[in-house]
This record gives sequence, structure tokens and C-alpha cells, in this order.
Amino acid sequence: IIEVRDLKKDFHVGDITVHALRGINLEIKEGEFVAIMGTSGSGKSTMLNVLGCLDKPTSGSYLLDGVSMAELSRNELAGLRNIKLGFVFQSYNLLPRTTALENVELPLFYNSKVKPKERKERAIAALEAVGLVDRMHHMPNQMSGGQQQRVAIARSLVNDPVVILADEATGNLDTRTSYEIMALLQDLNSKGKTIVFVTHEPDIAKFMTREVVFRDGHIIREGMVTDRHNAAELLKTLPAEEVV
Ligand code: ATP
Ligand code: MG
Repeated sequence: IIEVRDLKKDFHVGDITVHALRGINLEIKEGEFVAIMGTSGSGKSTMLNVLGCLDKPTSGSYLLDGVSMAELSRNELAGLRNIKLGFVFQSYNLLPRTTALENVELPLFYNSKVKPKERKERAIAALEAVGLVDRMHHMPNQMSGGQQQRVAIARSLVNDPVVILADEATGNLDTRTSYEIMALLQDLNSKGKTIVFVTHEPDIAKFMTREVVFRDGHIIREGMVTDRHNAAELLKTLPAEEVV
């Protein structure tokens, strides 16, 4: 579903050129749950931003669902982003003075084929999928970090994207809440959703099907996750929750 060939990305800041990606070859098949790993500055977020059509590569090719990104205009890329992709970020990126429901509806506003009634129905279904229908009229600041991230996941799902892209999506969360988010993503993946998940934490990568390790703009290692962790099972081993 994703095919990247000899992809390079340079950043120019003053006289300095940073080679953030130095010739990446990567193929991701439908239904995979891929961890993009590596130390700080290795190029993980740059890679995800290119995959998410948020940033254009300096050279190389990128095919998403059979479509070559290089030939598309800025507008076409933005359109594609709203129809084919879902995003989850470390800091949730919800609109602050907007309810959970409206936040989840947002990606559908860019799709003129979806009428208001259907928009609302789909947003409620997405909130149901993350177990948060009862919070649909809450503002982001009336929810916990984990709940806000579940709203963000609902938003990433609402347009039924071909790929969900997540950047350090558990970075701000405690262990239990991280496992809850991973359980949700593992469930979505088991139903066929392709997910690419950036993390620098080896323990988090264990929830995925394959690891790709970046260093200094190169892929230095990749392979299937052998002793894969099951987040729902791990949650049962944690001490009981004190407050809900
Ligand atoms: P972290 O784990 O800290 O988030 P990362 O692996 O996501 O790191 P990137 O953000 O992809 O790293 O950065 C890769 C390199 O590109 C770094 O050297 C960084 O300084 C540089 N870089 C990233 N974005 C820009 C930018 N907009 N302008 C200039 N340089 C950038
Ligand atoms: Mg990063």
C-alpha cells in the first residue's frame, strides 16, 4: 500500500544542509502494523511527514495506494490526505474549544460527498469504536490525556483511511494508558487497518508486526517482531485501576 524508492529529504537552514533522509527504500503492505524506530534526530518524523503528504521529498518516489505522490499538486495532496490518511500525534492536536464529536467530524468536512447527517453518524460510530460516545459533548480540556488520544484516534478513523500514521502517539501517556491505546490500535489492525507508528521505545514497538530502525537518515535494520506483545492481555496483568 506504501512503496518508497530511494527517497531523500534535505532541509536547508541558512548555510547548513541537513540530510534528514538519505535514500530510503521501504515497502509496507496492507494490514501491516509497522514500527518506525530510531534515536532522536534519526529521521523518523521526517519519514512520517513525507508518508503523510505533509512534506515533499527532495528526490525519490513514493507510491500510496498505487498513486505517485510526485506528480500531484499541493491541493491534490491536501485532498488525498483527507481521504486516504489518518493522523495521530503525541500532543493529540485536538481543536480546544470544540467538542469531541466536532473534532471527530472534522476530516469529513473536506469530503463534499459526505452530508451533515452522515457526518454526524460516522463520527458517533468512530467514537463508539474507541469507547467514548458518552463523552461526545466534552471539550478536550474536560478529558484525560488518554481519552483525548482516543478522540484523536476516532478522528483518524472517521474517513476510513487506507493508512493510519502515528507519531509517538503514546509519548505523553502513562504505562496503563499507553497499553489501552495499543490495545485499541491492535484491535483496529486485527480488523485489517494498516498502521505506521513512530516510536523510540523498544517496548512499544513490540506491539507491532514489523520494526524498521532508522539511524542518521538510513534504515539500518528491519524485521518482523518475533515475541509480539498483546496489549489487551498485558492490561490484565496490571494492578487494578483506582479511579475511572
Ligand atoms: P525525535 O525522536 O527527536 O522526534 P526524529 O527521528 O523524529 O527525532 P526528525 O524530526 O525526523 O527526527 O529529524 C531528522 C533530522 O532533520 C534532524 O537532524 C532534524 O534537526 C532535521 N530537521 C527536521 N525537521 C527540520 C526542519 N523543518 N528544518 C530543518 N531541519 C529539520
Ligand atoms: Mg520525531
